[in-house]
Amino acid sequence: MDNAHIECIAPAHAIDRLCLVLGDQLDDQSALWAHFNGNTDAVWMAEVLDESLDIVSSKQRTVLFLSAMRHFAQQQSAQQRPLIYVSLNQKVASFAEALHATLHAHNVQRVCCVVPGDYRLVASFKSVCAAHNVALEWVVDTHFVSLPGEFEQWMTGRKQPRLEYWYRQLRKRTGILMQANGQPEGERWNFDADNRQAFAKAGPQNLTPPLRFSADALTLAVMHDVQTYLPNLPGYLNSFDWPVTRVQALNVLAHFIEHRLRYFGDHQDAMWTSEPWLFHSHISAMLNLKLLNPHEVLQSVQHAYVQQQASLNAVEGFIRQVLGWREYVRGLYWHYRHDWLEFNALDAHRALPSLYWHGQTKMVCLHHSIEQVLTHGYGHHIQRLMVTGLFALLWGAKPQQVHEWYLAMFVDAVAWVEVPNTLGMSQFADGGIVGSKPYIASGAYINRMSNYCKQCPYKPTLASGEQACPFTTLYWDFVRRHESLLAGHPRLGMQVKNWQQKTPSQQHDIGERAQWLFEHIESV
Ligand code: FAD
Ligand code: SF4
Repeated sequence: MDNAHIECIAPAHAIDRLCLVLGDQLDDQSALWAHFNGNTDAVWMAEVLDESLDIVSSKQRTVLFLSAMRHFAQQQSAQQRPLIYVSLNQKVASFAEALHATLHAHNVQRVCCVVPGDYRLVASFKSVCAAHNVALEWVVDTHFVSLPGEFEQWMTGRKQPRLEYWYRQLRKRTGILMQANGQPEGERWNFDADNRQAFAKAGPQNLTPPLRFSADALTLAVMHDVQTYLPNLPGYLNSFDWPVTRVQALNVLAHFIEHRLRYFGDHQDAMWTSEPWLFHSHISAMLNLKLLNPHEVLQSVQHAYVQQQASLNAVEGFIRQVLGWREYVRGLYWHYRHDWLEFNALDAHRALPSLYWHGQTKMVCLHHSIEQVLTHGYGHHIQRLMVTGLFALLWGAKPQQVHEWYLAMFVDAVAWVEVPNTLGMSQFADGGIVGSKPYIASGAYINRMSNYCKQCPYKPTLASGEQACPFTTLYWDFVRRHESLLAGHPRLGMQVKNWQQKTPSQQHDIGERAQWLFEHIESV
């Protein structure tokens, strides 16, 4: 087999089960394979243009998905599984078009697919199968820790879901970080108070470079195809070095556990110029493409704790993200699947500044966070929430546009996880489903958690005047605009009082500067 190509084994004329495998379903443990019969069934995979154009997808994200798909397809061929693979050079617009063509060319009894991570595809596949009068069978997604129906049952009768209680339920059910007496390890559910420190002046210490992979022949072929057929996608490709196979993904996990897990909690929220990776795991894309399984991630991290390779605060902090947040936002995505894209609780209507797409701004925090995404398709949680997300929130950007940016730019972006994080946690467009309050802060927060402000022409302490930090100006303007919403909140009410205690002249100057920003953002 040529290393740069996928060898497709033609399926028999009549196909009993046509098994669809999407780019975020590269799971060799999937329930799809339980009854796969190589004599009668076939695997179906498709690279389609609209998934990068209609819904914009950056160069980094597109190459990661397509390369991981082609590597996965090669494994299917190696196992002698009949395979239909639609590749980019066939210039097929959409999954619907690709599936129509297959159902037209082959005598297919049933189409089988694990429920997609993007609700929009459910309707699309349904309508294609209906048009061909072919049965469509949804296969249960066994990749997650939550059992089918578990989240919906937990939500029953709950007015206000909260991560903490869902997380505890999963800890109890799985026994992860639990003692034999039913109490949490260390007698506490949450070690956040020990975590989330800023770096000392000298910056991060003990950083081990993450495990990265130079592009092999298959990945180089994908890069070539992307440059040829999708040349105008945002971002850069020369830095592409993500893992694209399960073996590589497992190595990344092991490398994280060995070198960075022990520092994870302490510096979970800290940021530093030109240090994109810090002590994070960078496994979200591998988890979301299903090259890694959350069960094995959780077990390996727990094992590291038992082996005393990492302290409880680091391990619990990490497990809270994977077992807690990841499973929680997935549940919420499906629960509110019909509503997410309509949510706009703060009535935000400004266009997202174009600097999000090119990163050219004097604001050092935004410049670094965006440049990093263009280069690597990666930003850690606090860069997403408290830099790019915060600015869009304070700016009053249309939630839908913010969502499109996050979905496009990050290699780990799949609707079920991106949508609730962006529209809920970051933009508060859901009015308080994912989190109880908008995550707002002034430049002072960024100054505390990073070294960005040291190199910035703006001053995080100033809210008005030419040197004012745009975050700080817009923070107070946000408090003014949403006074009545914030006043009722136990933790944010104080900020409304602080705003009210400013003199009329201070308020006027802040308002004037905010107005100037709204009119001149591209030169800020
Ligand atoms: P680490 O910091 O090492 O954390 C470990 C793992 O925990 C991650 O790999 C991830 O699987 C999980 N995790 C952590 N936080 C969350 C969270 N809030 N929701 C779900 N899982 C979480 N994550 C995505 O996987 N895809 C997205 O498209 C995505 N979009 C986001 C958009 C916004 C506006 C925000 C604020 C967060 C978003 N997140 C998203 C969550 C989080 O920022 C990323 O999972 C994390 O930064 C990935 O980097 P990492 O693997 O180094 O994570
Ligand atoms: Fe960002 Fe303001 Fe700090 Fe500049 S001063 S880096 S704009 S927070």
